[in-house]
Parts: sequence; structure tokens; C-alpha cells
Amino acid sequence: AAKADGKGCWRTFDPSLEERVLRQRQLDLDMRAALAADEMELHYQPLVDMRSGRVTGFEALLRWNKPGYGWVSPGEIIPIAETTGFIVEIGRWALRRACTDARDWPDLRVAVNISSIHVRMPSFHGEVAAVLRETGLAPERLEIEITESVLLDHGPEVLENLKRLRATGVRIALDDFGTGYSSLSYLTEFPFDKVKVDRSFVRDLQGRPEKVAVVEAIARMARALSMNVTVEGVETRQQLEVLREKRCDIAQGFLYSPARPASEIAALIERIEGAALPQGASGDGPTGGAVVPA
Ligand code: C2E
Ligand code: MG
Ligand code: MG
Ligand code: MG
Repeated sequence: AAKADGKGCWRTFDPSLEERVLRQRQLDLDMRAALAADEMELHYQPLVDMRSGRVTGFEALLRWNKPGYGWVSPGEIIPIAETTGFIVEIGRWALRRACTDARDWPDLRVAVNISSIHVRMPSFHGEVAAVLRETGLAPERLEIEITESVLLDHGPEVLENLKRLRATGVRIALDDFGTGYSSLSYLTEFPFDKVKVDRSFVRDLQGRPEKVAVVEAIARMARALSMNVTVEGVETRQQLEVLREKRCDIAQGFLYSPARPASEIAALIERIEGAALPQGASGDGPTGGAVVPA
């Protein structure tokens, strides 16, 4: 808190801010060391076709089990890595790791999150092409997830990168749809293959007709633009039913599974595709009617 009374201006020491800055600086250093020491991992969360119940692919999510600390949330480290630029190293590493891991899977897609900072670099499309060449993964099996911030005040290199990637067969998904600004104009600016509706639209879907209406409108619009609709954060069977009825395409969420290590991919697919959804199953909790407990 600060007090300005004309004469003396004083500021109380704010330990939380001080602590935050120190923690961020330390995390930045630790993160760089961890990537170099191979302590970072990608875990994979299934993307499931709502109608067929088939697994269509997996989203790669950064996981860091920091020795002596525990799991560090990407929500905490990604923003730090974006301010320092280290996110580009993470992106390059994640692309290579994800494409390498996906080679061992059946014919499924792998989706990799790429920061705006990285997509704005003129070298980006070439980096992706090189990773695909070196790993031998078919371009059609790779999906790049970007957020609309990449299209905010962008230069020509962004569309150039996206167009070139798409021309080779790589899919482009617009992530966290509906959380930023001017989303609708972005949809006309670039032909995305997929929009991913943010988790915030799914929370409290029950008994919230206005939320259902928004999701339905997004799905209809996406269909008109020949895009697929993935919905994030599907936790209950009831949510799945509503989304399916509103003709969304793909579900991602704890209902099926959180992100798991690459070694569990085969078992995950079997579990999800093997477990027929019990008709009329019900439950009110977050795992109510879940096919698989998270
Ligand atoms: P995102 O790309 O929107 O990823 C989906 C997030 O929702 C993941 O959080 C996932 O674990 C979480 N999630 C999925 N289903 C559910 C559910 O049913 N309930 C709940 N409560 N959460 C669910 P996570 O792994 O913590 O990642 C957070 C964000 O960090 C990601 O959001 C993405 O923006 C970023 N991120 C993660 N990994 C990477 C990466 O390798 N590179 C970059 N640039 N960003 C990453
Ligand atoms: Mg994502
Ligand atoms: Mg997302
Ligand atoms: Mg999201």
C-alpha cells in the first residue's frame, strides 16, 4: 500500500512482490537447468471423438517434476519463460520430443502448444519441417496449438508460417477460444483446422442455458467455416452429453483422462475405447459417470 499526502510519500514494503520476483528469477534459472538435464517431460492427454468414442490424438503438455519440490504447474512457468524468451527453447524441445514419441503410436495425431513469440519468428515453419524430416513423422499427424494472441498485431511472418505449415499438411488449432479479444475476426483471417473452446465455457454448464447457447453458437460457426470443435475441460458425462447434442466434435478432459506419460498411451487408448459409455449413467460430482477415474 502506498500513501501520498503531499509532503512525504511512503511505501510499505511489499514482501509478496519481492518474493514473487525472486521466485520467478529462481524458477527461470531452474527451468533452464532442468531442460538441459532432461528433467522436463511431456505428458499426453487424449482427444476423443464425441460420437464414436475413438481416440483421435493427444495433446502434449509440459510436465516438470522439480527435485525436492514436486510438480511445477505450466501455468506458473510458461508465462515466465515467455518473458525471458526461453519459451522458444521449450517449443523446439517439445516439438522434437512429441514427434519422436508419436512415431511409436498408432496412426494418431499429436498436438503441441507453441507460444506466440515462437510463431512470430520467421524461422518457425522451417524448424517444424526439419523436425518432421528428422523424426519421420507424417506432417498430417502433427497439430500446432496457438492462441489468438499470436494474431494480435502480427506481422506478415505469422500468416506465412501458418500457411506454409498448413500447405505441408500440419494442422493448426486455435487454442483457448473465447477467452481473449476479437476472436471472431481472427477466424476469418486464417483458416484454422480446429478451434478449442476454453474450459471456462464448460464449467457449470448444467443449469446455465446461456453458456450452452454460446457453445452451440461456436460449434455452428465453426461448422460453417469447416473447422472442427474441440472442447477442453470435459469432466462429467452430463457435460459430454450436452456438448455432443450441440454437435461439438472432440472432447478433452478428466472424464477420459488427465495427461499421462508416453509409456501409458497404449493402455489409455485401450481403456477409453474399450469402455463403452454406460447409457443413462448419472452422477453429480466431477467424476460422476466417468468412464475412467482420473
Ligand atoms: P492448454 O493448452 O489450454 O491445455 C489444457 C489445460 O487444461 C492443461 O493444463 C490440462 O491439464 C488442463 N485440463 C484438461 N482437461 C481438464 C479438465 O477436465 N479439468 C481441468 N481442471 N483441467 C483440465 P496444464 O497442463 O496445466 O497447462 C496449462 C497451460 O500451459 C496450457 O493450456 C498451455 O497454454 C500451457 N502449456 C502447457 N504445456 C505447454 C508447452 O509445452 N508449451 C507451451 N508453449 N505452453 C504449454
Ligand atoms: Mg493447448
Ligand atoms: Mg487449450
Ligand atoms: Mg485452455
